[in-house]
Amino acid sequence: MNEELDLIPISALNQYDYCPRRCWLMYVAGEFLPNPYTVEGELLHERAHQGVDTKRGELLQLRHVQVYSHRLGLIGYADVVEERAGKLYPVEYKRGRKGKWNNDRLQLCAQAMCLEEMTSRPISKGYIYYAASHRRELVELTPEVRTQVEEAVHGVRALLASPRGPLPTPSRRCRGCSLYPVCLPRETERLNAFSWEGDA
Ligand code: SF4
Repeated sequence: MNEELDLIPISALNQYDYCPRRCWLMYVAGEFLPNPYTVEGELLHERAHQGVDTKRGELLQLRHVQVYSHRLGLIGYADVVEERAGKLYPVEYKRGRKGKWNNDRLQLCAQAMCLEEMTSRPISKGYIYYAASHRRELVELTPEVRTQVEEAVHGVRALLASPRGPLPTPSRRCRGCSLYPVCLPRETERLNAFSWEGDA
C-alpha cells in the first residue's frame, strides 16, 4: 500500500476478489511468482501500453492512463481509455477468454469510478478485451457492481492492515494460481487443523 497517500492499488481489488489470501501474500508479504499465465498477461499489457494515443473519426484512444480516486482511496492504471460520441469508458486487456469470475469486472468498474471522479463525467459501461478470443466484453457498470467495488475496497483495506494473512480456501482457482508453491493451500489447511486438534 502507498503509505504516504494511503491509496490502494486497483489491481489489489482484482486479486482480493480472486482470493483474499493471494492478495495478502502479494501486497503484504511481497510474494510474487510468475507462471505462464502471469507472463502472458504482462506481455499483453505491455503491448496494450506501447501503442500510441490515437484519434480516428469519433474515436479517441489514450493508453496506460493513470487513474485515482480520493473518495475511494484508489490508484492504478487503465490499459486504454476511449472516448466515442462524447462517451468516456475504460478498456481492460486480459489474456485468455471470458472467465467465470467477477474479478476483472470489479477492476474495470473501479477504473471507471476513478475516471468519473477525475473528470466529473458519468460512465455507464466499459469493456474487457480478451486476447484469446479477440473479443470485447461489454460490462455495464450497474449499482450492484459499484457496491461490490466499495465492499472490496473496505475488504482490501482491512486485509492490508492485517499482520497475518487469511487461511487458504483450496478451490479450483488454486490450479491457475502462481502462488501455489508459496501458499501450499492443502498442506497449510491440514497443518492448521492439526494444530487445533493438538490444542484441544
Ligand atoms: S493457492 Fe489457492 S488459496 Fe493459495 S493463494 Fe492461490 S488461490 Fe489462494
